Amino acid sequence: MDLTGFAPVGARINQYQDEMILWLRELIAIPSVKSSPAGPDAPFGPEIARALEYVLAWGEREGFRAQNFSGYAGHLEYGEGEEDLGVLLHLDVVPAGGGWQYPPFQGVQVGDRIYGRGAVDDKGPAVAVLYALKALKDEGIRLARKIRVIFGCDEESGWRCMDHYFQKAPKPVLGFVPDADFPLIHCEKGFVALTLQAGYNPSPAGGLELLRVTGGTRRNVVPESAEALLTADSGTGVRDRLQAVCAEDPRVTLEKTGGRIRLQVKGEAAHASLPHLGENAITHLLAILAALGEKGGPWELITLLTKNIPDFTGKDLGIACRDRISGALTCNLGTFAMGDGEVQLELDIRYPLCIDEKTITQRINEKLGGGGFEITGRHGLPPHYLPAESPLVKTLLAAYQEETGDFSPPLAIGGRTYATALGNGVAFGPNLPGRPQLAHQKDEYIQVADLMLAARIYGRALFHLAAGGFRKEDGEK
Ligand SMILES: [Zn+2]
Repeated sequence: MDLTGFAPVGARINQYQDEMILWLRELIAIPSVKSSPAGPDAPFGPEIARALEYVLAWGEREGFRAQNFSGYAGHLEYGEGEEDLGVLLHLDVVPAGGGWQYPPFQGVQVGDRIYGRGAVDDKGPAVAVLYALKALKDEGIRLARKIRVIFGCDEESGWRCMDHYFQKAPKPVLGFVPDADFPLIHCEKGFVALTLQAGYNPSPAGGLELLRVTGGTRRNVVPESAEALLTADSGTGVRDRLQAVCAEDPRVTLEKTGGRIRLQVKGEAAHASLPHLGENAITHLLAILAALGEKGGPWELITLLTKNIPDFTGKDLGIACRDRISGALTCNLGTFAMGDGEVQLELDIRYPLCIDEKTITQRINEKLGGGGFEITGRHGLPPHYLPAESPLVKTLLAAYQEETGDFSPPLAIGGRTYATALGNGVAFGPNLPGRPQLAHQKDEYIQVADLMLAARIYGRALFHLAAGGFRKEDGEK
């Protein structure tokens, strides 16, 4: 038995199923990947602008108030009230990439699954939220708070949409972001990206000549390959020495061409916030080079780095820490380029609530500054955290629990979501516990049953947070 009064709204949502599927398939068929601007109201390209117009036009037909913010973002509003409840979604998608079994931009339905880029990230959740809103309206639920569903158009590459939007529109007093996992994410670790540079003497007297070391492609990815180029001549016996260091290592390939030796290391890519799922090719390569025991020039810097950044825990940098809520600090050496007397590297650090950015950069300066490293670039976000006891978290969890019967605790992650842009908000669904993470993957899909469940959970969340659980006709008696 449902004592909350939500049951008729949930029943209505279920009746919309066929319409929701059709609508999601149409939305997936708009390939809203960022491209060159197509005019004043399409700053992220014509297809993203088209997706925004499509959603806003639907909202107007349904009787919601629509506003387009020059193609950067848009919103649909419903109800009156001095306070706003915000739901923040995005309509842009990452490029399809290769290897798909189904066409990425057609919205193909196969059995209980709807395939396509954006199915879970973030078009499926958009459809779920909009039909939950429609059900509240069609059921005549009176709202104590205005509901504002906001659509960002640049979530996947820079959040410029939100900068623009929140210059023009006020922040809602509270809200949620359907762009991650259920039950909900109440803690997102702090984040700091650092660029470090140092110079060195490229040809120190005697010894082995190191021409170039490179690795990694992006700061926020555990590098899957790295390579070093050395001169092979002058009686240094470099090949034998390298073979002694890494002959049995299946991740290493040695190749002699002309007077040079190319040393390649294979790692395993992973997101920088989950470094334990990967193998860092750069730190592995640096350890091999340091084991050669050479002195001077680039070798000193390599030894220094190997001593201080041997792994992703940050322990030798003096920044390792963990707390009960947010977990452990992670540190990813994401890119590395050394040659011609200069080295540049990028660190991606995700930190728990028990440390701050200032302490982290101070310790790194202490450890690496003496070797000549200087921090030349820095970009960070403090942790985003709402206690499990806060009213917003408790209410959203209740909405999830009432629909699913699952009482799992809220989550902490190292990644960042749009919830940061919302302020007093948390990421809430749509991915259910135990489901594969399909965002940004090939053959992204959403199960129809999960889409419907998400819509009912979002419906309950809107109902509890905005409606206060009474109907118009009740109030008018
Ligand atoms: Zn997303």
